[in-house]
Amino acid sequence: MNPVAAPTLAPAPVPVAVLPERGLTDLWLQILDQLAPKIARSQFITWFKDTALLGKEEGKLVVGLPLPMTLHWHMEHYRDMTLEAAQALDSTVTQIVYTVDVGLKDNRDRSPDILERFPEVKKRKVPGRSEVRMAEGIVSKILNPNYMLENFIVGSGNRLAQAACQAVAREPGGKYNPLFLYGGVGLGKTHLLQATGNAILRQMPRTAVVYTTSEDFTNQVVEAIGQKKMEQFRRRYRMVDVLIIDDVQFLANKERTQEEFFHTFNALYEDRKQVIISADRPPSELDLEDRLTSRFERGMIADISTPDYETRLAILIEKVREYEIFIDMTVLQFIAEHAKKNVRELEGILMQAVALYELEQRMPTVRSIAEIMHKLNKDENSKDQNVGFQTPQKRRPTFQEVMEAVSKYYSVSVNEIVGASRVREILLPRQIAMYIGRNRMGVSYVHIGEMFGNRDHTTVMSAVRKIERVLQDDPQMLREVRALEQELSLVE
Ligand code: ADP
Ligand code: MG
Repeated sequence: MNPVAAPTLAPAPVPVAVLPERGLTDLWLQILDQLAPKIARSQFITWFKDTALLGKEEGKLVVGLPLPMTLHWHMEHYRDMTLEAAQALDSTVTQIVYTVDVGLKDNRDRSPDILERFPEVKKRKVPGRSEVRMAEGIVSKILNPNYMLENFIVGSGNRLAQAACQAVAREPGGKYNPLFLYGGVGLGKTHLLQATGNAILRQMPRTAVVYTTSEDFTNQVVEAIGQKKMEQFRRRYRMVDVLIIDDVQFLANKERTQEEFFHTFNALYEDRKQVIISADRPPSELDLEDRLTSRFERGMIADISTPDYETRLAILIEKVREYEIFIDMTVLQFIAEHAKKNVRELEGILMQAVALYELEQRMPTVRSIAEIMHKLNKDENSKDQNVGFQTPQKRRPTFQEVMEAVSKYYSVSVNEIVGASRVREILLPRQIAMYIGRNRMGVSYVHIGEMFGNRDHTTVMSAVRKIERVLQDDPQMLREVRALEQELSLVE
């Protein structure tokens, strides 16, 4: 008999978590403590909510993320920072790796409650002034400091306009003079105009930047005429370095104001002073004197059109950051999908969500947003205006409806999914329906069992577990299930 070979040492399985789970949570919290001050709170919460440290394999820290779509963002923006923070705490750490674990979202106990740990610090609001009086009595409406070129999200619809504003901010009175921006309401004209003024003032604080609307300009002309101070009015405006006039379409039918504007424009233009104008349509379609519109056409004309989905989502993320609140990514996606008319509408919905959050301490959910949109839509209708979005009328589906939706989605019959067949094409939809019933609707295992041909609750339990596992490493499947949930308006 051959001697029994001495057992060779099999390589020890790589321990998934060297630290006990508690240790992982503590380490993650310490890492988060280091990261929090470096990231705006809303961003921090957006990207780190429901995250957890799932393992430590040698020098590798395995960070669990709740949603596949956050993966890229983390790798791009937070990986280095996270590694640095981890290394400061534990010098043996060499690498951060990510894994998507959708279960983190469903089971809040698995990740630290960062909303609680990093509470909001309320800032005092500074009371606003509406105008500034500059030297020599020139009045400019105050520029909103929140309108910046840096927080203007660029997409295909506004790229040219934004680039032109940037060029003007770098070199006022240069190549792009006058700069004429046009586009429909709520697409960011005022934002860009004021942002350009702000940018110029930041670099050259002594520049006389005047921002005014065409209504305001008209009022000033009327006042000057009334007080017989026209000369003074002209003199003052000619001392301006950058004149920004918003919404010039409202100068239509105001001949005297148009005339004054024409003279002011010419004087400034000849002095190589920058003029920036906005309107809701191109110069050629404005109902203004030809000599004025032909002046507008001399410089740079850029239009702004409605943002696409990606831009809408990016704008929402930016606004959420500015408001310093947390709104779930699925909710933002939902808003971006449905509010298509313009950015103001997007913001309006977001503001309502913010109010909900601030007044009632309720986290906006897809459902509450759908309700808000429905309400806004009704208000709009009662004003007899165009409807910008179709609000899906969201109602909580019954479990029977879930079973029907799942069957339909996978092209099997309800009878089949409640039946006994164990072929994969039928088994999978059955388990998915059970999963949705349990994890999204909170139906009890026992009741689900009953609905599925009196199956035992343990069968349901293992089906749910199985789908939870599958969803963790099958992105295609995850998409399908999320799509179904979305369709059933079950995603919160
Ligand atoms: P308009 O003057 O064209 O009617 P606004 O400039 O008033 O539109 O824009 C409406 C709102 O939408 C503003 O709060 C503005 O900050 C925001 N907004 C519009 N476009 C963008 C963008 N691309 N990025 C960030 N915010 C935007
Ligand atoms: Mg405007």
